[in-house]
Amino acid sequence: MEIISTQAITLQSTLYKDKHAILKLFTEKEGVISVMLYGLSPKKPILFSLASPITRSQVTYKRTSKDICQLIDAQVTVSNLPFRKDLSTLRSASLMIKALLLSQLPHKKAKKLFSLCVSYLDKMPTVDHAPNLAASFLLKLLLHEGLLKISPTCNHCENPSVTIESGESLCHRHMTSSKNLFSSEELSQLFTLAYSRQYDDLFKKKLNAEMLDRVKKIFHEHYS
Ligand SMILES: [Zn+2]
Repeated sequence: MEIISTQAITLQSTLYKDKHAILKLFTEKEGVISVMLYGLSPKKPILFSLASPITRSQVTYKRTSKDICQLIDAQVTVSNLPFRKDLSTLRSASLMIKALLLSQLPHKKAKKLFSLCVSYLDKMPTVDHAPNLAASFLLKLLLHEGLLKISPTCNHCENPSVTIESGESLCHRHMTSSKNLFSSEELSQLFTLAYSRQYDDLFKKKLNAEMLDRVKKIFHEHYS
């Protein structure tokens, strides 16, 4: 059986027979994998830390014929402590984690998405408006999966876009519903969050709660 060593981000842990847990990890080399963590106990705080979502680690595991890989070694590299100090930061990071759980199939490699996730998680506790990063991550994840095309003009004609439906930017003529219209400023903010690679651009304007909800809606049109 192949032994793999890789960086990982804890996405989820499910207790199993009181003392054990099944962890879902997003790994750099193999995307989302599951491992069994044996012997959770207060005497082993490292294991608790590893079982907490957002924690980052270096793990070594053996691929088995079953769904759950066998964990050989794990070292926590970045704890999730900085995220637990501020509710907005914690919520924003949790949104990213949930988006990964919903969208990533087991063992589907996603190296670029992994590095994006790591750099956003590094940045998040240092910024004063974390939801911009969470929204940007959701949109970039859709781009990564080929499920989103945000543009100032309609994807079917030259008219200006006024809405996003099933990941497509559409004008008044091509939209099928007028329930979810965006102003040109709002569309331009979404465009920046989806495409910009500069943190300065991403934070030019604070994303309000309503716009964050609308980004979540765009995401959940594909993953629910
Ligand atoms: Zn059109």
